[in-house]
Amino acid sequence: MLMNGADLLAVANEHSFAVPAFNISDWAMFTGIIEVSEQRRSPLIVAIHPDEVSHIGHDLLAAIVQRAHTSSVPVTIHWDHGGTYEQILTAIQIGFTSVMIDGSMLPYEENVALTARVAEAAHAVGLSVEGELGTIGKLDEQAEAGVAVSDIIYTDPDQAEDFVRRTGVDSLAVAIGTAHGLYPKGLKPELKLDLLQELKSRLPIPLVLHGGSANPDEEIGRAVKLGVNKVNISSDIKVAYHDRMREVLADPTLREPNTIQPPAIEAMNEVAAHKIELFDAAGRADLY
Ligand SMILES: [Zn+2]
Repeated sequence: MLMNGADLLAVANEHSFAVPAFNISDWAMFTGIIEVSEQRRSPLIVAIHPDEVSHIGHDLLAAIVQRAHTSSVPVTIHWDHGGTYEQILTAIQIGFTSVMIDGSMLPYEENVALTARVAEAAHAVGLSVEGELGTIGKLDEQAEAGVAVSDIIYTDPDQAEDFVRRTGVDSLAVAIGTAHGLYPKGLKPELKLDLLQELKSRLPIPLVLHGGSANPDEEIGRAVKLGVNKVNISSDIKVAYHDRMREVLADPTLREPNTIQPPAIEAMNEVAAHKIELFDAAGRADLY
């Protein structure tokens, strides 16, 4: 069942769980993630970053939309970290049902203006919109290079209230102490759960966590119970996928993708299943 993000996350908000947003970059990863979500009866957000859209091409979207329609669990197809208004129009055109516009690196008033403009266009055709306030570290191709906790500007509750009211976003990515990508060695991330509580008490909409690969499970689990309803997962599943693939490829005689990819998908899905349990999303498809 294909849904937009607002309908998907409203149920998560009501029942205090989080929907995993898994970043996928190819067909094998996509079908693997759909299968593990169906096995666990978990709602799913398929997140595709603009760099990933460039990699898979627009033509594959039709197949992704088709598979989402026939899925036995609710699926949202989400444009992750949209950078421009034009990208959002592309997302609308090729079949996404949810978009993120990330103006968090812009001056505040410019972030408001861009996000409001995106929300007007996306809402007109039934897509939902995620905005971002505060910063969660720079996202580059190998995000582990150069992200430091000092890069995080925490989300300000007063500003967040103003932002949501003026932009009309359906959900908000907040900066409460996670960073994108794998963390540098020796960095001990810690979530500001009191800030999360304050944000949630003032903003009843679904809140979103980006990053968090190295935050302890127990902390992430508590954040979910305090009002985070979407958690982005990218590095964790890709590391599992490619670590296993490197092991498989140690055998130089292998050449067929249908021999090489399945063990990598299996390793990826073990991590995905763990996240689904951690976010209390297993079995929740039955609520829709
Ligand atoms: Zn992100």
